[in-house]
Formats: sequence, C-alpha cells, structure tokens
Amino acid sequence: MRETTVLPPGHAADTARQRFVTSGRAFQLLLARLTRIGCLLVAAVGVAVVCGWIFDIPQLTRLLPGLAFMKINTACSLLAASIALWILHTREPGSSWFPVARCLAALLLALGALTLSEHLFGWNLGIDQHIAPGLQPSAHGSHVGRVSPASSFILVFLGLALLTLKARRSYLAASTHWLVVPPLLVSVLAVLGYVYGADSLYAVRPYTSMAAHTAASFFVLSLCVLAADSAHGFASVAISDTAGGLVSRRLLPTIPIMIFVLGWVRGQGQAFGLYDSQFGSALMVLLSITFCVIAVAWTAVTLHQVDLTRKLAEAEILSLNAGLELRVQERTHELAQVSSQLRLVNGALELLSQQDGLTGVSNRRYFDAYLGDQIAVARRYGRSLALVLCDVDSFKAFNDHYGHQAGDECLKRVAAALRSCCRRTADMAARYGGEEFAIILPETGLSDALQIAEAARNAVVRLRIAHAKSATAPYVSISGGIAILLHDGNRSAEQLVLAADQCLYRAKRLGRNRMVAEAAEFGQAIA
Ligand code: GH3
Ligand code: MG
Ligand code: MG
Repeated sequence: MRETTVLPPGHAADTARQRFVTSGRAFQLLLARLTRIGCLLVAAVGVAVVCGWIFDIPQLTRLLPGLAFMKINTACSLLAASIALWILHTREPGSSWFPVARCLAALLLALGALTLSEHLFGWNLGIDQHIAPGLQPSAHGSHVGRVSPASSFILVFLGLALLTLKARRSYLAASTHWLVVPPLLVSVLAVLGYVYGADSLYAVRPYTSMAAHTAASFFVLSLCVLAADSAHGFASVAISDTAGGLVSRRLLPTIPIMIFVLGWVRGQGQAFGLYDSQFGSALMVLLSITFCVIAVAWTAVTLHQVDLTRKLAEAEILSLNAGLELRVQERTHELAQVSSQLRLVNGALELLSQQDGLTGVSNRRYFDAYLGDQIAVARRYGRSLALVLCDVDSFKAFNDHYGHQAGDECLKRVAAALRSCCRRTADMAARYGGEEFAIILPETGLSDALQIAEAARNAVVRLRIAHAKSATAPYVSISGGIAILLHDGNRSAEQLVLAADQCLYRAKRLGRNRMVAEAAEFGQAIA
C-alpha cells in the first residue's frame, strides 16, 4: 500500500495527497471485504464438517487421518458464529436482524461456558447428546463429542465479543477488541502447533484436542471480529490517515506473517538436517531482527518524508496566508480611501444639488424642501416662522441698460448681501426665481423679521450698485414682503408664500425699495 502526505489543495503533489487520503478508506474497504470472505469461509467449513458427519466423510471432519476431528458441536458453533458476525458486520445497530445475531452470540457463550465447566469440574451435562444426537462419535464414549477445552474457552470469549460488537454503549463496543484477544492467542497457538508440528500446542488429551480446521477457523473468525467494526478500537486507528494508521497498516500485517514464515522455514531446514536446533534458533533470531529492523526503518523513512512534505506544505500555506493578509490590508486601505473620497464627492454633489448655480445661495428646490420641514417643526413646537420674499427693483431696466452679464453680477452681489443677514444657522437665503429671493427665518416673530428684512434691504442699498434707470433710487434696491406662519392661524407653505408675495406686491405699489409686513409697513430708506 503506497502512502504519501497531506498537501494543500492546488499543490503540484495534490494527486499524491488524494492517494494518501484514500489509503485509509481503501484499507477500510479491504477489511470489510476480508471480513465477509472470512465469514463465508468459516461458514463453509462449518457446513462441510456437518456434511462430513451426516454423510460419514472423515476427510471433512478430520482433514487427514491421525489428526483430531472437528466435533459437530464445534461445526455448528462456527456456523452460528459466522452468521452472527455477518449480520453484525453488514447491518447497523437497530436492524431487525441484530437480535438474531445477539441470540446466536448468547448461545455460543452458553455452550462454551457449560462445556468449559464440564471440563473443569468433570461433570457431564449431556450437552453433546442434545446437539445432533446420532451424529456424535459415541463409539468412543459419551464425552468424545464434547467441544475441546480450548475451543470452549474460545467460544466463551467469542460469544462475549459478538455480544458487545457494535454495542450502542461505546465502552462496550470498544471492549470487543480486548475480548477477542484470548481466542486469537489460543487459536494462533493451535495453528502454530499444527504448522510447526508441536502437538502439545493444540492437544490436551486424545479427543480433547483442537482440530486443525477448528483452529484455523477460530483464528480467521477472531481476525474478522477485530476487523468488523472499524468505528471502535484499534481498527479505527488502522483505517485512519494518520501516522499511527500508516504504521499499523504497514507493520501489523507484515511482521507477524514474516516471523511466521521464518519460523516455518527454520523448522523445515532443521527437519531436512541443514542445521541443528541451536543454529536454527540463532538463524531465526537473526532473520527476525533483520526483518523487523528493515520494516521499522522503511516505515520510519516513509513517515519522515511524509512529515517533511507536510512541513513544507505548512510553510507554503503560511507564506500564502501572509501574502493574502497583506493583499487584504492593501485592498482595505484602498477601499477606505475610495469610500472617503466618495463621501466627499457625495457631500459636494449634495451641496451642488441644493445650490443655485449663479448666486451660490440655496436653490428653489432646496427652498421648497426646507420651508416644508421648518413649517412642520414650527407647528409641532408651536413656534413662529417668518418668510421674507424680495424682488430686485426695476431689474429689467437694469439688464436693458447695463447688459445681461452685469445683471448676473448684480444678482450675485444681492444674493451675498441677503445671505449676510442670515445670522442664525437655521436662517436661510434662497433664490426663489429670476431676480426674486427668499429668506426663511425659523423661530422668528414679526418684529424680528421686520428688523432682519430691513437690514437686508439696507445691505443691498449699501452695495451701491449704480442703477441709472431706476425710478426709485440711483442704486440697485430691493422690495420685500414678510409673512408670519402663526400670524393668522396655521398656514401651508403655499399660503405662506402667497401671503409674502401679496405683501411684496404692496411694497412695489407703494413705491419700491421698502419692506411690507402683513401687519406693518416700513418706509423708504436709502443710505
Ligand atoms: P419690478 O421692479 O416691478 O420688479 O420690475 P422688474 O423690471 O424688476 O421686473 P420684471 O419682472 O419686469 O423683470 C425681471 C427681469 O429680471 C427680467 C429678466 O430679464 C431679469 N432676469 C431674471 N432672471 C435673470 C438672470 O438670471 N440674470 C439676469 N441678468 N437677469 C434676469
Ligand atoms: Mg420679479
Ligand atoms: Mg423686479
């Protein structure tokens, strides 16, 4: 299995990363497939042995003449265990098949415990006579069909392991891997006994020894139980994409298999008389150490490379992050600058949209909006508001005499003079239209409004703009009308403007260059 490292996305070795990421998953799939194959194999062995007993085929029950035979109880137990394991492995907790598997596991536990008690205490519970009566080897005595002590010991732990496998409580599910260790060790011991020809490792007494295929089946079953639940225990580490997962995937299968093979080779060499036992032991130790060192070094080199590549990738990510942060800071700064410029431009635009292009005082649109707002405020708080409407006297004649450009200049100066009379921040001078101007005076009563209006008229006269064609005065002058919001009941903006306009009309009729209020009239005054 090839292992590589975890790299950031977009890196040149990204495909290698994917291979590393999927290796744990691939191992998990391999484990699942092997578990199923193991279950099927063990079940097939169980069925074959049962058939061997039914049809009296000794090759199936004992494989070779002289070897121990597999008892029919053991064959049934293997079948039950493989069925239970298949269910527990392929289904999830909550499945309607789970209770069936648990019942089979409990039966295995009971059979193992009772048979073990028979062996330990020397009593006969007659279990063997109840399972497949007539198929037991009664010719050799009532106890010869009994499951061997080692097999019953295995059945106890296998039953417990199958009872806890994929249990809802995680501490129970995690205990499965510990419960399966004794069956694994005992069955490995028996398998080694057969492979290395050491009878004492699988035989206690005649008829109480473990059959070769029994030992192999229990070994396979134990491994399958270990691999069946990859969510808990060591299997979860083995399928992970971590250094631990890599080590367990690489070393755990190879070291035991190689030592097993070396042991067999050493035995064969000794059997052929190539060397004696002492030399064999020394050779075995040397080869085992050599192999283990090579395997560990090989894994260490891989892990070292993985670690180096990971560190490289981390450094790359760090520098990428730093670059990104710098770019974000730059963009944020640029954005702040642009938005402050935008605010300034917006402010200037807003001011422009409120200003009269020629005179620089507020335009008609802003006058209308401001007057509406101030009337609403004045009404809400019961305050007064004055409106002064002014008109440049005989301005047509001025234009005709001095020209339109001079007329424009005159309007600018008049507007500036009117604006200079607005002392409070809420006071506002605006160009109402043509050569007409308006002054809004919030919170101003009649007498104050008259004073300000008169001051405005005087300010225009003081400009001393010569007006040779005026019948009123030698200088440019203005006439004005003053209306008060609360003077005669509550008025709308239009009504207020109309009232001021009527006063202005009266001022014109009375001879111009004067201010006329709704209730008072100011006389001509030329500075
Ligand atoms: P009265 O004293 O009765 O107000 O007489 P008047 O001549 O001032 O009034 P009239 O309405 O007859 O004339 C207003 C003149 O104002 C006519 C127009 O050419 C001039 N006018 C209006 N807007 C502007 C402007 O923006 N620039 C210039 N130069 N003249 C303007
Ligand atoms: Mg006019
Ligand atoms: Mg006029």
